[in-house]
Amino acid sequence: MKEKRQLATVSTLVSDVLEGHRLNEPEATLLLKTQGRDTLAILAAADEMRERRVGETVTFVRNQNLHVTNICKNLCSFCGFGRKISDEGAYCHDKAGIQEQARLAYERNVTEICLLSGVHPGFTLDTYIDMMHWIHEVAPGVHIHAFSPDEVAHAAHRGNITSPDVIARLKDEGLGTIQGTAAEILVDSVRKVICPRKVPTADWIRIIKESHKAGLRSTATIMYGSYETAEDQVEHLSILRGIQDETRGFTELVTLPFVHTNTPLYQQGLARAGPTGREDLLMLAVSRLFLDNFNNIQVAWGKVGLKMTQLALLSGANDLAGTMFTDDVTGDAGASGSDYLDPADMERIVTDVGRKLRQRTTLYELV
Ligand code: SF4
Repeated sequence: MKEKRQLATVSTLVSDVLEGHRLNEPEATLLLKTQGRDTLAILAAADEMRERRVGETVTFVRNQNLHVTNICKNLCSFCGFGRKISDEGAYCHDKAGIQEQARLAYERNVTEICLLSGVHPGFTLDTYIDMMHWIHEVAPGVHIHAFSPDEVAHAAHRGNITSPDVIARLKDEGLGTIQGTAAEILVDSVRKVICPRKVPTADWIRIIKESHKAGLRSTATIMYGSYETAEDQVEHLSILRGIQDETRGFTELVTLPFVHTNTPLYQQGLARAGPTGREDLLMLAVSRLFLDNFNNIQVAWGKVGLKMTQLALLSGANDLAGTMFTDDVTGDAGASGSDYLDPADMERIVTDVGRKLRQRTTLYELV
């Protein structure tokens, strides 16, 4: 009997949402917790919603990650990448090291360079501006996607200036879009466990809105499958939907499954071993259905693998992120095969599920 009632609820919700109903938080939580055959109905509804909203095109950006440093003030417990200055393997690239990576990216015809780094305690706003200038010296015209709200807050704190001033300077000096990272799960009781030194939820929301209002768009991210509950995940998605209602500044949702192997959070027994395949697909599908003001839902191929990426494309996702070329953040946490995906391989998995691959810019203009 109990199973029958849940079946009715899921099927009603799925048909309501396809008729234009905006899901509320308890409804989205119920969908995220769904098991069994009902799961497939949710994935199918998300696929239909994806088709209505963005059609059959699957996009990717030709980009390269650029690692500046793995030295980090935050040392989040879910991260296997960040190091203390005194730790073995800690590094911080100078101008030559940054320009060598940027030059290589330019030769590879990337349209975007994405800074993927620790939050070095010694960095200031001037450090961030210098980095952008060094990159643009050797890679003119490349879109720089960088600096999370946590890095903006850090620069503001170090320089004793306001976050809108930091944002304005970064924009004037060449920043293309801001990173919607450092969000993880925007619930403070979770942040206290997984990233206690990062900006609290209220500051993350304030800074991302300031950025959007200054004309710097950003990604939105969710890092799921560690310490948080389904209720926390939905609270996070609800915050993103509310910001998007107000600013329309998010370009896409990037879903980031927790990679557990080399992280203190997992090693101390505080987190499970990352999300399951069911959870990966439901996160994409429920995000597609719940975030009715987002066009683009991105699957992280480097974290879920290519076969799961194909299923993600049938569960609401329409974007494959980038070529990346290198991703030490995911690799150091224990994932393999996370560095580079050739567009020819993207084409193979995309056409295999009956869709068309197109290259895009960071802002989703087709190339
Ligand atoms: S997740 Fe980012 S901020 Fe946290 S320790 Fe790792 S590199 Fe530092």
